[in-house]
Amino acid sequence: MSEVGDLVTHAHETRVVVIGGGIAGMVAALECAKVGMPVTLLEASDRLGGVVRSVELDGVTVDVGAESFAVRGGTVAALVAELGLSDAVVSPNPAGAWVAGLPGGGAAPMPVGGMLGIPANPFADDVRRVIGWPGAWRAYLDRLRPPMTIGHEKSLGALVRRRMGAAVLDRLVAPVTSGVYSARPDDIDVDLAAPGLNNALTRTGSLSGGVAQLRGAATTAPGSAVRGLAGGMTRLVDALRDRLVELGVDVRVNTPAQAIVADGDGDGWAVEIAAAPESGDPATDPSAPADPTEPAAPAPEATRLPAEAVIVATSEAQARHLLAPVVPDLDPGGITAPVVEIVTLVVDAPALDAHPRGTGVLTVPGSHTAKALTHSTAKWEWLRKATDHHIVRVSFGAQGEAPATEALDDDAAAALALAEAAKLLGTALDRSQLRAAHRERYVQSQPAAAIGRTAVTAAARAAVHATPGLAAVGAWLAGTGLAQVIPDAIAEAERVRREALWGDAAILD
Ligand SMILES: Cc1cc2nc3c(=O)[nH]c(=O)nc-3n(C[C@H](O)[C@H](O)[C@H](O)COP(=O)(O)OP(=O)(O)OC[C@H]3O[C@@H](n4cnc5c(N)ncnc54)[C@H](O)[C@@H]3O)c2cc1C
Repeated sequence: MSEVGDLVTHAHETRVVVIGGGIAGMVAALECAKVGMPVTLLEASDRLGGVVRSVELDGVTVDVGAESFAVRGGTVAALVAELGLSDAVVSPNPAGAWVAGLPGGGAAPMPVGGMLGIPANPFADDVRRVIGWPGAWRAYLDRLRPPMTIGHEKSLGALVRRRMGAAVLDRLVAPVTSGVYSARPDDIDVDLAAPGLNNALTRTGSLSGGVAQLRGAATTAPGSAVRGLAGGMTRLVDALRDRLVELGVDVRVNTPAQAIVADGDGDGWAVEIAAAPESGDPATDPSAPADPTEPAAPAPEATRLPAEAVIVATSEAQARHLLAPVVPDLDPGGITAPVVEIVTLVVDAPALDAHPRGTGVLTVPGSHTAKALTHSTAKWEWLRKATDHHIVRVSFGAQGEAPATEALDDDAAAALALAEAAKLLGTALDRSQLRAAHRERYVQSQPAAAIGRTAVTAAARAAVHATPGLAAVGAWLAGTGLAQVIPDAIAEAERVRREALWGDAAILD
């Protein structure tokens, strides 16, 4: 047989199991299935997409997780195009977001042209409106201070505080890092969150000068370098699922992987899943009534799915739990990840027709119970056209701070979200205006830009890569956001393909 023929056969015999049906797992599965590898995709919950999820609220399909993607790098757009969804790509309303919780309870538009909230010009009208005259003068001292007294600062919070003062830090930078990373500026690594900024500071002699140089002539509103999909981001999930099925991927929902074990023959792996319950057996079928007088039936045998390669695409905690027993040198865990809750509200409020706070509101940490708000029907025209009402998403919780909604039942959480929305939007809203509400809880991954995080993820990657036939993808390794997760999953799947298909040099002899 020809070398090409050997490769085709080899690809068709190289079984891949992907654990986790979020975007990372779906993309990794797609990349492997494209070259003819037989792929099984296991998803623990009853639906694919992971954090990209939607619900129907008051007759409208609404994103309740990820609602956009960053254009940077172009990889999300390339996937969207590959799946035939380019016509659905839409831009958000360029009005941008506001910041609330200013002294005296005020709110103002987030200034344009900054970087992570750091202004290029502290005296610009939109900046001064947020930090006041004293804040602007304090920030201006940055221009007069010699850059080398600071040197190369690692912590974003320390850098901004020392160069520009507390008003810039608390009212501009902290709302952005809290909203984007669920983290405090002090915990963010400047070189990761704003690559090149420290060097630009040294070159230009000031932090604001460095921001101006890196931003160039850009005057876009913060957050506008993103796109959405008309109809919602779950269209991406649906299109990916259809493509996977078309390529013959065995997609299994409600199927959590329980363990990864070495295959009996010693040259591969097997993934253990619970055996399918026999209908009506209370030991295995949770819907069957249990009889307390009967002795407990033995737990069902696990089923083993043999594979030459296993790609783990779950959250960090699950990934470490599954991989640590088979990957020497992988730390099994102890990760504290931020928990956030998003309460999505449909409200009948004509006062919001004027979009009083642009596309949404970031908050000065500590000023409000909610962390941020997105006025979805102001942000996305397709959504505005889909309903006569307003849709707002109120988020709670951040690193080191449990969501205020956590201990509340759904009704109480909706009531709190409505009260916070009224404050953040500067508009009276009462219960009679609430048409529908939905609450969703997420365990976010640690921000990739957190200080010390690169070393943690590099160590995890190195340990996984040192174990043939295993791979890991997902936001915990790639960084939060589809623009990080998708290219990383493609690259890791490519590594798996290379290792499985070309790693055995004999095949090319
Ligand atoms: C509230 C919120 C809003 C966001 N908004 C945006 C946004 O607008 N734009 C953007 O780009 N990014 C956004 N992000 C980030 C982005 O959504 C994520 O980084 C990305 O979707 C993560 O994908 P993933 O596949 O790594 O993980 P996940 O989506 O978490 O998927 C992991 C999957 O693994 C499954 N799983 C876990 N354990 C097992 C097991 N043992 N066996 C089988 N399956 C298992 C889970 O059920 C889940 O489906 C947002 C994140 C959050 C939390």
